[in-house]
Amino acid sequence: MCGIVGFAGTTEAAPILLDGLERLEYRGYDSAGVAVLSEERGLQMKKSKGRLKVLRELTDDGRSMTGHVGIGHTRWATHGEPNDVNSHPHLSQNGLVAVVHNGIIENYLEIKEYLIAKGICFRSETDTEVVAQLLEYYYSNSGDIMSAVYKMLDRIEGAYALGILCVDYPDRFIAARKDAPLLLGYGKDCSFIASDVTAILKHTREVSYMADGEVAVVSSAGIRVFDAMGREIEKERHTVDWDVSAAEKGGYAHFMYKEILEQPEAVRKTMHPRLKDGRVVLDDLKMTAEQIRGFRRLFIVACGSSYHVGVVGKYNLEHLLRVPVEVVLASEFRYADPLVDENCLVIVISQSGETLDSMMALRLAKKLGARVLSIVNVVGSSIARESDDVLYTWAGPEIAVATTKAYSTQMVLLNMLGLYMAELRGTVAPEDYAAVVGGLEALPAQMERVLENTGTIQYLASRYFNHNSVFFIGRNLDYALGLEGSLKLKEISYIHSEAYASGELKHGTISLIEPGTLVIALGTYTPLFDKAMSNVIEVKARGADIVALTTESRRADMEKTAGNVLTVPDAHRLLQPSLGIVPLQLFAYFVALQRGCDIDKPRNLAKSVTVE
Ligand code: GLU
Repeated sequence: MCGIVGFAGTTEAAPILLDGLERLEYRGYDSAGVAVLSEERGLQMKKSKGRLKVLRELTDDGRSMTGHVGIGHTRWATHGEPNDVNSHPHLSQNGLVAVVHNGIIENYLEIKEYLIAKGICFRSETDTEVVAQLLEYYYSNSGDIMSAVYKMLDRIEGAYALGILCVDYPDRFIAARKDAPLLLGYGKDCSFIASDVTAILKHTREVSYMADGEVAVVSSAGIRVFDAMGREIEKERHTVDWDVSAAEKGGYAHFMYKEILEQPEAVRKTMHPRLKDGRVVLDDLKMTAEQIRGFRRLFIVACGSSYHVGVVGKYNLEHLLRVPVEVVLASEFRYADPLVDENCLVIVISQSGETLDSMMALRLAKKLGARVLSIVNVVGSSIARESDDVLYTWAGPEIAVATTKAYSTQMVLLNMLGLYMAELRGTVAPEDYAAVVGGLEALPAQMERVLENTGTIQYLASRYFNHNSVFFIGRNLDYALGLEGSLKLKEISYIHSEAYASGELKHGTISLIEPGTLVIALGTYTPLFDKAMSNVIEVKARGADIVALTTESRRADMEKTAGNVLTVPDAHRLLQPSLGIVPLQLFAYFVALQRGCDIDKPRNLAKSVTVE
């Protein structure tokens, strides 16, 4: 969701900003812009609706702008349609300041009216423009840019990551943040800000994460950081060990395909340091055994695919722990007056760790007294920082908007957490514990086997890619799997698809099945295999085309009814969705490829949803 990059150094800023913005493209955006400052030419700005390619053309790849200090932005519109004027940066009336912003200024209307009454003219429909205008207004009155920035920050409400240029200070820019991601990067004779580290990894691995309320003054000589009271502070620095190529396509046509293939490795990395001598060891948890034994109820709160991990988690954690587990969409949880108290553990799942709905759910859970554990991919992200406990999925950067490896790593980690807690609570028999651990250890190699045989999936995708209605049906963990399979397909191929619990078919949905409807029948949850078969027979009788997915041991049985059968290796039944998801991701990918879709950046979608 939107990206910010800022640079102050001894070389031209514009090409570096454009390159950084390109690396943030995966977050999703609808327009882009850059502003550069130099003593000779003052403030230069270019922005436009559409892809970065347009901005590259407008600026002759950045060469038409000169200056060693600048800010850049990719916008994902929230206030005002995506167009050239609403694109960032936004200039103040007299052109003294330029601002890029990620987030939403909630009280912008009130401030806008106040400034209009003072005779200030607005150009755009955005909430962001009030930041530029208000800042110039205060600056013109006081002549002190820092006190004007603090005054402006005091007045605005909402969420923001801000990059600010002021013409009177051509050697620096200012950054501020509250409830939106922003990090600082320390290079050699240069400094950066960025929404995430992939934007600047090429230049530096040394970063600090800005906290809410902090303000930074960024120049080639270094970065000075001040707290909300204006006192200078020392920031802790982190060295990022992500490989630059890990954030690039590495020869594949799409990030999504590359990331699907990376899943065995990502799962291995997430799992192995936490599996020792047949035991799940979660050294990263601060929670005591006594606290773990005390929870009376668990909540899993998340959005999108992470929510689907939560649905798997509900089945598995209830089975392992014998406590009620509620899985709730974060956007619903926030406003549902949930029955959460100090006897609850709330598990928040988010790839980016910046998902705003999940963040707000987390804060509510804490306010209600619950302990919050998050499962997050991005180290140092907001959700990670505000949780009582964090389990990181070490999946590396995920660039494609449609998640694959983050989903898979979240799922193994949640299952491991369930197992770990079950042992402490004494709710799992030693032989069952050992069987699940054995199942986990086998997963990466089994995933590799699934990935070696993509031919049939490719064939089925080419046969069914022009269907416009698809149903995923399954029971229990296969239902949870269907939710994610269906989301993958609709996200990237734009085919309407639904996931149904098979038992629900006869309560309404079966009326939608007609000759030629494609039904993806999931029969990997072997305890209910026979029931799954009956449902396949039902939809087949109504003329549906069927693609069935089951385990290798059930292939022959499934083939008696379904013509097209895909299989995955037999795993421990609690872990079967970790394998089942792989062919469904590949099916969605190949279908979208056949349809010529923009797979890594599906329309209207953003990777990290940092607004409500
Ligand atoms: N609310 C701002 C706008 O609509 C910023 C959106 C963003 O984060 O890109 O322009």
